[in-house]
Amino acid sequence: MRYIEPHAHMVSRVTDDYVHLATAGCQAVCEPAFWAGFDRSSPAGFFDYFCQLTEHEPKRAAKYGLPHFCWLCINPKESEDVKLAEEVIALIPQFLDRPTVLGIGEIGLNKNSRNEVKVLELHVDLAARHDQLILVHTPHLEDKLKGTRLILDAIKADPRIRPERVIIDHVEEHTVNLVLDRGHWAGMTLYPVSKCTPARAIDILDVYGPERLWMNSACDWGESVPLIVPLTALEMKKRGWSAEAIERVVFGNPLEFLGQCPKFKLQL
Ligand SMILES: [Zn+2]
Repeated sequence: MRYIEPHAHMVSRVTDDYVHLATAGCQAVCEPAFWAGFDRSSPAGFFDYFCQLTEHEPKRAAKYGLPHFCWLCINPKESEDVKLAEEVIALIPQFLDRPTVLGIGEIGLNKNSRNEVKVLELHVDLAARHDQLILVHTPHLEDKLKGTRLILDAIKADPRIRPERVIIDHVEEHTVNLVLDRGHWAGMTLYPVSKCTPARAIDILDVYGPERLWMNSACDWGESVPLIVPLTALEMKKRGWSAEAIERVVFGNPLEFLGQCPKFKLQL
């Protein structure tokens, strides 16, 4: 099989994971900027992280024939300090022309605070000014629905943003239709112990169909499964999905969304 891993935090994974991804048929891995598991103490920490995402990780992945792309931002978990966020956002434009940068992400909300919303708006403005794709993180706490609504409204409020150039990630049963109704793409994060399990994701696909939906592992420094996308594809096969329909979800859809960025070119 062939598939694309659209959301993986490879900086916190071991090199063996690249081997396993490539062996399972992964054609490209995309890494949104995220929390490191601890708060960085200064904008310089983010500068180094952006260098790691745009220089070091593509080289590490290339050893296994795997193209590595990334998204840049200050993540929602570190967006409470608006001054820090402004300083980090000011660093980003110098990286946007780098050959593997796909857009701005994963932006969004964590605790749905006023400051987080302000920083989200700054990122949306940054994406609009530089004509970038957007990848959005929705909260994993109990108020995912409220957070998703706040995010959708912040994006809608900026008329420069075309809905089809935005993917809202970590959707679940109660948020997926809101996202699709606004014309955005929706991502389902597959986790063994929290977030969306493979069985729930396939239920969602059974109900809504494959249009504008993708799946990702969002594997990071926590308990997560880097190969959960191909494992879910196997589960889809068991549940009667055709090979063509599975490939559309795990390969065709991410290719179509990410292909809106001219830098996302695969040698197939
Ligand atoms: Zn993530």
